[in-house]
Amino acid sequence: MFKFDDKIAIAVSGGKDSVSLLRVLAKIEQKYPKAQLAAITVDEGIRGYRDEALEIAAENCKMLGIEHHVVSFKELYGYTFDQMIRRLKQKADDRLTPCAYCGVLRRKALNVASRKIKADKLATAHTLDDETQTFLLNILHGDVLRIAKEKPVTDGVHPKLVKRIKPFCEIPEKETALYAYVKGVKFQGKPCPYASEALRNDARMMLNMVEDKHPGIKFTIFKSIERIRPALEEVASKEGLGECVECGEPTTERLCRTCQIRQQME
Ligand code: SF4
Repeated sequence: MFKFDDKIAIAVSGGKDSVSLLRVLAKIEQKYPKAQLAAITVDEGIRGYRDEALEIAAENCKMLGIEHHVVSFKELYGYTFDQMIRRLKQKADDRLTPCAYCGVLRRKALNVASRKIKADKLATAHTLDDETQTFLLNILHGDVLRIAKEKPVTDGVHPKLVKRIKPFCEIPEKETALYAYVKGVKFQGKPCPYASEALRNDARMMLNMVEDKHPGIKFTIFKSIERIRPALEEVASKEGLGECVECGEPTTERLCRTCQIRQQME
């Protein structure tokens, strides 16, 4: 996933997974003097939740001597996430959960911020649990080609897309939590107020129930995804990637999803 002289941006939300990743990469980086680390936190503008996480992320970065950048929805999109959700909820045709919007907006924010600091790679703390949940969600949404795109190391498919890596993709969430507790890492425990509405919760419960009965099943699912992905990639590669006519960010459509959300809201 890494080269010895990479500048690596780490997406740090302040939760246990991202703060553990920050610690682990900081430790590894000490052996590679030409490598550089920088943390990026997305401030969505979620009242009573993100403020605390921002403080925790900043505190961890300061302790490890890692530069910390904050990118906010307000500065990037003109609205906080709370304001966006209030507007979107007024639309009669809105059937998506807040996380479905937030995921799209966060992805763009992280890419823009990583590009701005000239990072070679963007590391996210997606765990084995996240990967298997995302796989199941893509099936439930009928969006199977996303399985090809959301892989542990993305291809350099567009010069404006910073390569994404997921160093924890084979690490169960319980282990990152254990690491954080054992190391005494400070992280945010409070859940996001919008999280309970997400379909991801049902996917999580379903997978945890099966894993309890059949230990190791999440690894089996992960390996199965790896095996079917090449076939899906062949189909997905035909989609092509252009630039959004509105903001210029990479997209497979004429208007990228974030600009579609803005239009829908306005
Ligand atoms: Fe965004 Fe959903 Fe995560 Fe909250 S739980 S920060 S709304 S993706």
